[in-house]
Amino acid sequence: MHIPFVDLKSQYLSLKPEFDEAILKVVSETAFISGRYAKAFEEAFAEYLGVKHCVAVANGTDALEIGLKAIGIGAGDEVLVPANTFFATSEAVGNIGATPVFVDIDAKFYNLDPAKIEEKITPRTKAIIPVHLYGLPAEMDEIMSLARKYNLKVLEDCAQAHGATYKGKTVGGFGDVATFSFYPSKNLGAFGDAGAIVTNSGETAEKARLIANHGQIAKNRHSLTGRNSRLDGIQAAVLSVKLPHLESWLEARRQNAALYDEILSDSGLQIPAAPEYSRHTYHLYVVQVPNRDEVQQKLSDESIETGTHYPIALPFLEAYADSNYQLSDYPVAHAQMGKILSLPMYAELTPEMIEKVCRSLKNAIALSATN
Ligand SMILES: *Cc1c(COP(=O)(O)O)cnc(C)c1O
Repeated sequence: MHIPFVDLKSQYLSLKPEFDEAILKVVSETAFISGRYAKAFEEAFAEYLGVKHCVAVANGTDALEIGLKAIGIGAGDEVLVPANTFFATSEAVGNIGATPVFVDIDAKFYNLDPAKIEEKITPRTKAIIPVHLYGLPAEMDEIMSLARKYNLKVLEDCAQAHGATYKGKTVGGFGDVATFSFYPSKNLGAFGDAGAIVTNSGETAEKARLIANHGQIAKNRHSLTGRNSRLDGIQAAVLSVKLPHLESWLEARRQNAALYDEILSDSGLQIPAAPEYSRHTYHLYVVQVPNRDEVQQKLSDESIETGTHYPIALPFLEAYADSNYQLSDYPVAHAQMGKILSLPMYAELTPEMIEKVCRSLKNAIALSATN
């Protein structure tokens, strides 16, 4: 039995007639860019999240850059970013002329450690980007209270956490602005690149929309230097077909995670944890294993695909070599780098597949220990 790391085909096939019809409709109406399909998705997504405004853009990385600019972050500012996240989070900070300042993560939950934020704040610190990594909300109460204390803006990076909740409230509505990615393998994924910026501030939404569309306030009237980052109609139509199913897909992910938890409970491995007030949506199911590379190879030999998110924590990437970040400053992010292993996770996984992954994982660990 081959077990892929993600399976986009099954989801497509499960709703094929609806997708095909929706796509054909966009094409036959030539509603290719922005337009009514994008608007319909923006409204539906804002309502799902319980936020006032949604501005759909071309991808999640653009959403980060535009979102930061829309809340007034720019050249010379420092922005706090977790040491373990996808590179796009810190890349966006650099691309707007600001400097990412990394904060170590929590050993149990993998998110920004609120206890390590304060020591990184300087007079130049202007914003903080909590990432709800792997689908688990960051500790928003503590982060928001520090942000208030030091007058920092907050951008939530929700690229991995569509529909995750913190103390009963959906992520994306806590900070000044939040961003989403609909990259195909995300929990809500398009059939290409797509992203969104959400906010409860009308002013921020307006600014983001202006930046994303050449600063154009009316035909041929440009009020600022913006860029082109718009959602195309086909992606909007696909996302609108998927959105009503998101809750059931998230529930299926949670059930799959619960089965993994149960089978791995006697393995001694560190399995994902979540505070009881958070609804983890398991974009990724990450465990920590000894001899990770060897174990991963053994699983691959058995046709089980796994991943590592992320094999090199951000401060240690080549891109930041000049900054001389110290290992000793990021002990948690550094210690977990060589151990984390992401197991296959999607709504369509079957119990048999999960049992097989766990059996093979336990065998691989036992074998690698005897070598
Ligand atoms: C995927 C991802 C992004 C970037 O989104 P794209 O749509 O691929 O540009 C940003 N941040 C995080 C945490 C992500 O997982």
